[in-house]
Amino acid sequence: MKISTITNWAYGVTVFLTVLSGIAFILSVDSAHEERKAVEVHLVLNELGEQLEIDAELRTDEARLYVMRGIAAHLAAFEVYNAEEHRLEEKARHAEEFGATSDELALLLEINKQADTLEAIELKAIKAYQAGDAQTARDLLFGEEHYQHHIQLVKDVEKFREMVDARTSVELELAKLRSDWFGLTARIMLGLTAALFLAVLYFVLRRRVALPLTRMTGIVKRLATQDYEVEVPLDGRQDEIGELNAAIHIFRQNGLERERLDAERRRDLKMKDLILQMMHRLQACQKLDELSDVVSRFAPQIFPELAGGLYVLNDQRTALRRAGAWKTPQPSLASFSPDDCWGLRRGRAHVSHNGKEDVNCQHLADTSSSALCVPLTAQGDIIGLLSFKDLSDGEDTIQEAQLYLEMIAENVALAVANLQLRDRLTQLAVRDALTGLQNRRSLDQTMSDRARENATGRLTCMMLDIDYFKRFNDEFGHDAGDLVMQSFAGILMESVGKRGTCYRFGGEEFVILLPNLPRDEAFALAEEIRRQAARMTLTHRGAVLAPVTVSIGVASTPDGGPLSSLRTRADVALLKAKDAGRDRTVCEPEAELRQVGN
Ligand code: GH3
Ligand code: MG
Ligand code: MG
Repeated sequence: MKISTITNWAYGVTVFLTVLSGIAFILSVDSAHEERKAVEVHLVLNELGEQLEIDAELRTDEARLYVMRGIAAHLAAFEVYNAEEHRLEEKARHAEEFGATSDELALLLEINKQADTLEAIELKAIKAYQAGDAQTARDLLFGEEHYQHHIQLVKDVEKFREMVDARTSVELELAKLRSDWFGLTARIMLGLTAALFLAVLYFVLRRRVALPLTRMTGIVKRLATQDYEVEVPLDGRQDEIGELNAAIHIFRQNGLERERLDAERRRDLKMKDLILQMMHRLQACQKLDELSDVVSRFAPQIFPELAGGLYVLNDQRTALRRAGAWKTPQPSLASFSPDDCWGLRRGRAHVSHNGKEDVNCQHLADTSSSALCVPLTAQGDIIGLLSFKDLSDGEDTIQEAQLYLEMIAENVALAVANLQLRDRLTQLAVRDALTGLQNRRSLDQTMSDRARENATGRLTCMMLDIDYFKRFNDEFGHDAGDLVMQSFAGILMESVGKRGTCYRFGGEEFVILLPNLPRDEAFALAEEIRRQAARMTLTHRGAVLAPVTVSIGVASTPDGGPLSSLRTRADVALLKAKDAGRDRTVCEPEAELRQVGN
């Protein structure tokens, strides 16, 4: 049962008992009043009876004195008492008006009758005395008849008074009993009311004050130790306890909010720290592999609920290739066209919300959750893409993290652009601009690297020189000579393939390094190059260019000699080929001379 119901019932019962108690008290007081009234009636009737008797006696006395002494004053006194007796008799006739019962009234009338009889005898005696018959008068007043009537009157009065006494004592007894009973009832009601009031007070104090206060004390203690897990049930009470409870509830909410903000701040700090660490490492990266490794390691730490991939645009700007990935499932395909991404098309971050609000990128592997594409741009050029997929359930992590993701993308883009620039500069430093082959510097670097690493295994060095190229230039012009050299470089790269590296050593001289290639295969390659060069037919400005021949010197290590002298020995072999009439291959140390063609 609800407390409010209990208190309402208790209140109702208390009011009811109080009303009953009040009524009982009123009735008790009323009984006391009746008691008083009965006593008053008793007094009046008693006095009336007594007075009738006394007046009759006094009247008789005056009548007797008159007939005895003949003094008129006694007659006058007789008249006064007689008048008073008449007045009392009149009052006795209406005794029921002030509380006499019918029996008492009948007795009073009987007393009146006796008094009247006595009056008649006494008047008769006075009359006889006044007529001079004193003896008759005395006989009448002192005679038997008068005596009997007087005795009867005294007896009747006595009887009347006993009757009134008896009735009054019964009435008094009844009134007292009633008064006592109502008094007791009122006290019991009052006692019950007090007991009920105390019980309800105890119940209310315990249930509504003590227990909530004890509970709140426990809650406050836990809150004081920053245990905000504790529940603060809102009971909706409007009193001070309710207000205290609401205040504790607000205190807990504030504590929770402060904890949330603290956690958010710590998360934010950690995230910023991780972003900073990532940026430092990005700046120190020397290769794209390193860079994608850094991004793939740090991105999932910074945003644990996002899968992602780093994509780099190829040199032809036709496709994006995945360079790094973290977490699964991956948001995008491993390779896709720039046109498949709305982010790349628009040059700004694009969110794909499962196609609900905006269009989805076509490169997304699946569209079951939100994805974000952030283009990597450097100096206005798109160089790649960061693609993210939301792995969280329901929370919009991508939307919340977008600013940070864009900031990361800016830094990644800068780092990628730096690497690409560095690559380009390196290419420029190690490559020959005319032929696209690596230059002499690169050759020297390779040789010194091998020497430093003490590389073992066979290394073949081939030196190639276009024959009579000065004459060719003189005849067809320098531009035609350039064209020949470019075409010759193409033949070299195609023929060598992955077996070795081609260098432009200087002027019209070239070097090919061939690791781990058997001697006869190296010789066969040289001869193949020589043959292809001879077959090369080029036109320049409408003129068909004369074919060129090539002299080739070949040397190997270690069986042919040490690495330090490898190029010199190849050069010596080349010179021998020139000396032997050009358009031939000479292998050192055998100084084997072979000539093909011509
Ligand atoms: P040999 O058969 O003895 O090698 O005769 P050669 O004329 O080829 O040799 P020489 O060393 O006398 O001349 C090399 C010529 O190569 C001189 C130069 O005109 C030409 N040459 C060097 N570099 C270039 C270049 O970059 N472009 C052009 N077109 N010619 C070049
Ligand atoms: Mg030369
Ligand atoms: Mg030459």
